[in-house]
Amino acid sequence: MARVMIVGAGGVGSVVAHKCAAQAEFSEILLASRTVAKCEAIAAHIGSSKVKTAALDADIASNTVKLLKDFQPDILINVALPYQDLALMDACLEAGVDYLDTANYEPPDVAKFEYSWQWAYQDRFKEAGLTAILGCGFDPGVTGVFTAYALKHYFDEIHTLDIIDCNAGSHGKAFATNFNPEINIREITQRGRYYENGEWKEIDPLSVHYPIPYPEIGEKESYLLYHEELESLVKNIPGLKRARFWMTFSEAYINHLRVLEAVGMTRIDEVEYQGQKIVPLQFLKAVLPEPSSLAEDYTGQTSIGCWIEGIKDGKVRKYYVYNNCDHAACYQEVGSQGISYTTGVPAVIGALMVIKGLWKKPGVFNVEEFDPDPFMELLGPLGLPWHEVIDQPSPFDQI
Ligand code: NDP
Repeated sequence: MARVMIVGAGGVGSVVAHKCAAQAEFSEILLASRTVAKCEAIAAHIGSSKVKTAALDADIASNTVKLLKDFQPDILINVALPYQDLALMDACLEAGVDYLDTANYEPPDVAKFEYSWQWAYQDRFKEAGLTAILGCGFDPGVTGVFTAYALKHYFDEIHTLDIIDCNAGSHGKAFATNFNPEINIREITQRGRYYENGEWKEIDPLSVHYPIPYPEIGEKESYLLYHEELESLVKNIPGLKRARFWMTFSEAYINHLRVLEAVGMTRIDEVEYQGQKIVPLQFLKAVLPEPSSLAEDYTGQTSIGCWIEGIKDGKVRKYYVYNNCDHAACYQEVGSQGISYTTGVPAVIGALMVIKGLWKKPGVFNVEEFDPDPFMELLGPLGLPWHEVIDQPSPFDQI
């Protein structure tokens, strides 16, 4: 029986708390976040005596150390924002607790996400005998596990990887983001990037797009983006010649985003407003719907998977592995929408891997560095069933 501390009581934090409460392996759960009322509302919805709550400003490591020393969890699951990653890793080192997150560190004043800051903790975690698992949501997260699983069971060499992420759901709002708006908009408005033949190639934001078919959904316009798991997969999957990431957006979403960008509302530098300094993107976040509030009326499915091509026994092999997730079913089960659900469930499975000793080794790791099998075994039972397509024509034969 293990104890888990969850940091962040947003859309993803709610799913993680619900799912941890449902696992016999977790005897006690502490949900801590900046606004304690959100923790309390989630705990009330779960209705289990296992779940305790606390107020926490996780930007200050000493606050977290105090809670960790009092509660003494076996693992900390960080589902606050990427800005808190380093302070939470520092706190885990000081308190001697394993760490897991779903998004890599970003400095608040630069829209740049890369693993360098967190990979720099490698020696400290190793020396402390602690495990840190980075990017254990769906993408990053399951996409890395899918790729490791493909390499283990279906390929001698992987040559190309195309991760495709479709949200074909509808929440009925004119414009909203499915996870934290500030992080989401920073991700999408930056220049696109993909890996080919040993180098990174850059493109203008959202300038390359094709209709790509998704199971049970059909064709959706999909945009080439930079996504953080590309960095670790290029490093950890030997022989990879090309790695790309595609995400669907509706025309209405892109139009709203273009207008917001054109009028300066996506800026992340400070501007003076009525004698006060404000960051336009943070102000925009304050007026947009919270991701967790979209859940009630959300219909339709998400579909995220990996198209992989390479060699098996001297022959070309094509392989597609994916999960489809229904927003309304997520709401029925845990009161959340599909994006929060597909992120939160893998974080819980990652934590289970650590506390069961299956992914427990000292150092800082990305998910594809571990044995994918026990993780894949739990995905379906915990709510994210996956499917495979082997040696069928790929949409990327032409793209
Ligand atoms: P939300 O904005 O809904 O929730 C973030 C939560 O973190 C809020 O409760 C917020 O508190 C809390 N928080 C923010 N700053 C602090 C702080 N300094 N101290 C303590 N708590 C803080 O975001 P989501 O739940 O949608 O996303 C959570 C994380 O999941 C993000 O890092 C996101 O990038 C990641 N993600 C990963 C995905 C993947 O597949 N790998 C996909 C989607 C999201 P308050 O309520 O007071 O604002």
